[in-house]
Amino acid sequence: MIAEKMVGYVKNSSLIRAMFEEGKRLADLYGAENVYDFSLGNPNVPAPKEVEDAVREILDGEDSVFVHGYMNNSGYGDVRQTIADSINKRFGTAFSENNIIMTVGAAGGLNVIFKTLLNPGDEVIAFAPYFGEYRSYTTNYDGVLVEISPNTETFQPNLVEFEQKITAKTKAVIVNTPNNPTGVIYSEETIKELAAIMEKKQKEFGTDIYLISDEPYRELVYTDAEVPYLTKYYANTIVGYSFSKTLSIPGERIGYLVIPNEVADSELVIGAANVANRILGYVNAPSLFQRVVAKCLDAKCDVEAYNRNRELLYGELSKMGYECVLPEGAFYLFVKSPTEDETIFCNECKKHNILIVPGRSFACPGYVRIAYCVAYKTIEGALPGFKAVAEAFELRK
Ligand code: PLP
Repeated sequence: MIAEKMVGYVKNSSLIRAMFEEGKRLADLYGAENVYDFSLGNPNVPAPKEVEDAVREILDGEDSVFVHGYMNNSGYGDVRQTIADSINKRFGTAFSENNIIMTVGAAGGLNVIFKTLLNPGDEVIAFAPYFGEYRSYTTNYDGVLVEISPNTETFQPNLVEFEQKITAKTKAVIVNTPNNPTGVIYSEETIKELAAIMEKKQKEFGTDIYLISDEPYRELVYTDAEVPYLTKYYANTIVGYSFSKTLSIPGERIGYLVIPNEVADSELVIGAANVANRILGYVNAPSLFQRVVAKCLDAKCDVEAYNRNRELLYGELSKMGYECVLPEGAFYLFVKSPTEDETIFCNECKKHNILIVPGRSFACPGYVRIAYCVAYKTIEGALPGFKAVAEAFELRK
């Protein structure tokens, strides 16, 4: 028999799997071009040219031990220093290679940091709506995920409830901005308030509360909105970065953690995170792609392609009477369901070959997530279906 804990994980995975299978079934029935799959955050724009150029340059130019060998668990020192220099230049920080640990994407980084920090029963606070995997990452280490209910007016975090829910057991708070699934960027004002509450609660309980900033969408921003660099607002901040979306390379599994010297017990945390990277089975982040990203720190995928999708989808759905907050970043639109039970809405969309994800997967029932990292024509093709569903639910035209 498998481990009890895995039973729940498997059940949850089968929901995602079921959606994937449904997409395939519809594609077989109606042809892939007639299925509008908005369910996955898998970038559809190609990786920037710099990525391929870097791969070729590295493979052509270096000996294979340099490219393919084992290394320190935290990654290549020169790569980490290059990343530290780039962050320092952009955000006025003062990190060195010692503050950077290369990870297997954001998912790997978050697991490393939770393994490093959590004792059984420790609480991790997340603001709904949040990326559903945070729950698994927390329970992996017998932590308890504490949810803050959503502020559906703006989708900025609900700080009143946050302050009430911090306890002596709160070990970490995780934020993700620009946000999956809303596309909202947490404002500087929000971050300052959040930091002030955390400072106050650390003093009140005499504990260390780590702020974890999960940043796979930092570079995907469509307005002139600033995405605050959180280490500058709260000393006990750890950043988890990923190149998956910025460089359209999610399958290459590459990212990094930033653990500043200002973090409580920083030397211990850095040392333990190194060991966690090893004993979780990663050993080190993928070698070739550490070298590739170091050459591509100023490169970006075609963000304008996502912007065109965003404008089309938001504009047209709003005209049909759907309610949603205009996303400033990431590549998701979070739409209020015309029915209280959003799974009914999702099923109605499915009748028009449109696949979207129920908000309950992000701890926010009554909403749905539409991932618009798809071809422009997929959005165009889905609009009549969205319109028919809007009419079926008698939304305003
Ligand atoms: N965090 C958030 C908010 C995400 O949306 C994702 C992926 O979609 C991840 C983490 C995992 O990213 P990675 O592919 O870098 O592991």
